[in-house]
Amino acid sequence: MRNSRPGGKSSTVSEYPEAIDRLTETLNGLPGIGKRNAERLAMALFGWNQDRLADFAEQAASLHERVFTCEACGHLADGERCRYCLDPTRDPAVIAVVEDAKQVIAIEKSHMFRGLYHVLGGKFSPLDGVEIEDLNVESLYERLDQGKVREVILATSPDVDGEATASYLANLLAERFPQLSLSRIATGLPVGSDLSYADSATMASALSSRRTFET
Ligand SMILES: [Zn+2]
Repeated sequence: MRNSRPGGKSSTVSEYPEAIDRLTETLNGLPGIGKRNAERLAMALFGWNQDRLADFAEQAASLHERVFTCEACGHLADGERCRYCLDPTRDPAVIAVVEDAKQVIAIEKSHMFRGLYHVLGGKFSPLDGVEIEDLNVESLYERLDQGKVREVILATSPDVDGEATASYLANLLAERFPQLSLSRIATGLPVGSDLSYADSATMASALSSRRTFET
């Protein structure tokens, strides 16, 4: 690497004061934020006044105190229940099972689904030490035990672990709840893709062309 400054300092030495460097490093740790963007964001934050910065810091610091897990479905919530479980216009007879909260948001953006959710909090992945019991499955059984659910859509990602989760869970559910209709979202989605970031049109077609699960 060539030296960027007269005086022999290496180009890896930052041009910024240490506090801005530290902030840049933190921002650089966020997904999709490269070094240059992180620098730009850090300088933009430096341009904010003290009140705005304090408010920003407070918003970040209080996230874990203000965001809860829905006690029914495991999605993110402002209180004990999430907005979908509280919404009387949703169809409680249909549940979409997903691996995490990001997918609930992706499905909602497709405007194709009016049922409820169940968030597993991960994917079955024995090689990584994640067994099916480690996921939020017991509470799914409890919901299904109430007998009001007609269909469960297995909407985990079409990657290896997501497929394994869907088929393992389908077998467990078919055995325990033989009346239940089990379906799998259509994998018009690229194999290996992370469902959390599927665009609305792709997600809509995956949901509408779901197929009955053969167990
Ligand atoms: Zn909920």
